[in-house]
Amino acid sequence: MAAAWVRLCALVLIGVSSAGALAKDKTPTAIVVGGGLAGLTAAYELQNKGWQVTLLEAKAGMGGRSGLATSEWIGNGKAQPVLNQYLERFKLDTLPAPEFVRTPGYLIDGEYFSATDLATKQPATAEALKRYEKTLDDLARSIDDPLNPQATSTLFALDQMNVSTWLDKLQLPATARQLVNQQIRTRYDEPSRLSLLYFAQQNRVYRGVSDRDLRAARLPGGSPVLAQAFVKQLKTIKTSSPVTAIVQDKDGVTVKVGSVGYQADYLVMAVPLRALAKIQITPGLDAQHLAALKSTNYGWRDQLMLKFKQPVWESRARMSGEIFSNTGLGMLWIEPALKGGANVVINLSGDNARLLQAFGDKQMVDQVLIRLHAFYPQARGAFTGYEVKRYSVDAGTGGAYLAYGPGQISKYWRLWERPVQRIAFAGEHTDALYPGTLEGALRSGQRAAGQVQDLLAGKSFDPAKAAAVAAAATATAGAVAAKQEKPGFFSRLFGGADKPEVKAEPVAKAVEAAPAPAPAPAAAPAPAAAPAPVAPEAVAKEEPAKPAATKAAPAKHAPAHKPAAKPAAKQAHKAVEPKKATVKSAPAKKPASDSQAKAG
Ligand SMILES: Cc1cc2nc3c(=O)[nH]c(=O)nc-3n(C[C@H](O)[C@H](O)[C@H](O)COP(=O)(O)OP(=O)(O)OC[C@H]3O[C@@H](n4cnc5c(N)ncnc54)[C@H](O)[C@@H]3O)c2cc1C
Repeated sequence: MAAAWVRLCALVLIGVSSAGALAKDKTPTAIVVGGGLAGLTAAYELQNKGWQVTLLEAKAGMGGRSGLATSEWIGNGKAQPVLNQYLERFKLDTLPAPEFVRTPGYLIDGEYFSATDLATKQPATAEALKRYEKTLDDLARSIDDPLNPQATSTLFALDQMNVSTWLDKLQLPATARQLVNQQIRTRYDEPSRLSLLYFAQQNRVYRGVSDRDLRAARLPGGSPVLAQAFVKQLKTIKTSSPVTAIVQDKDGVTVKVGSVGYQADYLVMAVPLRALAKIQITPGLDAQHLAALKSTNYGWRDQLMLKFKQPVWESRARMSGEIFSNTGLGMLWIEPALKGGANVVINLSGDNARLLQAFGDKQMVDQVLIRLHAFYPQARGAFTGYEVKRYSVDAGTGGAYLAYGPGQISKYWRLWERPVQRIAFAGEHTDALYPGTLEGALRSGQRAAGQVQDLLAGKSFDPAKAAAVAAAATATAGAVAAKQEKPGFFSRLFGGADKPEVKAEPVAKAVEAAPAPAPAPAAAPAPAAAPAPVAPEAVAKEEPAKPAATKAAPAKHAPAHKPAAKPAAKQAHKAVEPKKATVKSAPAKKPASDSQAKAG
């Protein structure tokens, strides 16, 4: 009897250990949803770790939000270390940026100023910009750890304020304020919609990184070239595969693309929040995640590339690089002529971009050309065509990139960095240090791949277990707060009372001219999840020039052929054609139309 029992135990043990060996030997599988740089990085890193990965991308082409620019300016290793590592790994050559693009320029009432010109020709504006930068730097310095920006109650209070209110207190002269507004809305969003703490935290991250570091080189072909390099490495990509639902259980995840199901052990979700909101997840996300999906602010930024036969600005200005205009033209960016001729990319951001959603592409281009023509009369004659990218109304994006609004750091800080059961999240919006950038997207893909690997190894990201760590962090924060909250902190930053005036609601106060006549609010359709456009207060007051629309309308001067406006997906598709790939993680049911990456 005893011998039989020992034999049975031995058999059970052998069974257990061989099952363990089997589980260990089985190639782990992952599905990555979203073929932007975050998803591509996660898929690439997991594949390198021996995972069998299937990448599902909704659009026909890969690369996601790659810029319209054909030759992006990129930062050096100090500004964008991960980006530079991948460029090196894939042997993608960059060209050093010419000196004149490395610092920003200004277009004030049509006249171009470098930073040096500004100091001599418009000293009041230059001095005000310096004062703004110094005050902002003081604010940024008050954050010890950019990963924990709300460490003290004082800093926490900054999250309840918007940037516009803070700028009001600086009382900058009108031109300086317009230029500052333009820079902020180009890089983030309208100052009135932006959390002051987020703005300060971002400036803390980039403290010590100069404009010269940020535009140190040029990547010929732009970020689509990097996306293409990832695509070449990946074995299984399925384009035109919009994910509609995800079910997780104790054994794995099932992902639905319409009626087709894919199964894997784990999943990386690398789509922007608005796109994620449309995917049904079972079991459902908790209330905090759902609220974040609904309300997290995204900056608005659309890009227009205007093409000219020759540079029309050369005769009057040395315009190039990144130029901030005070006259409703947004941020301009002179493109190297890789697409032929001379191109200028106009970035329309913030509320100006929101208002322009009521206009068609051609109308939008006309409005910008009217303003350009006022300064550069040769513009219309030399104009040959345009391309437009509207990130703000793209259903897959719902905005340009993450830009926390007032109160949102307090609610959602680092929320998406923690996996939910078998799902790890990636995407620029999930990176705490470099949101809204290529660097952030790449870093998030690396982090998510590491987390999936950790999950496989049995690590828990359960909030209950993480709570102890959070409690310790709060205790430390309390100690730091006690140390930091010396009297005079706010008076140093604001020159006024010692506590900030807390205003949770963003106050719309756009003082610059919108690049187009403001449509009646009712005529400006806003995407469901986005904040409603806010009509600028003084559109007419600051119009730089008022040529009669009919007279100045470029339509009759535009080339007869249809302008080369292409949908983003088509462009990316052309640039980044995924190779045929072998599907290894078999779909539960064969997809009906996976046009590019066929199974088998
Ligand atoms: C106008 C503009 C200018 C910029 N300029 C710069 C710059 O100069 N420097 C810089 O560093 N960064 C810049 N950025 C930011 C940078 O482009 C982004 O941070 C980065 O590309 C985001 O990558 P991502 O992978 O997080 O998201 P995305 O690129 O948006 O990728 C998400 C992917 O998910 C797909 N998707 C959505 N829903 C689904 C679904 N249901 N199923 C399957 N797939 C789905 C989308 O089609 C998309 O391909 C700029 C962005 C914009 C908009």
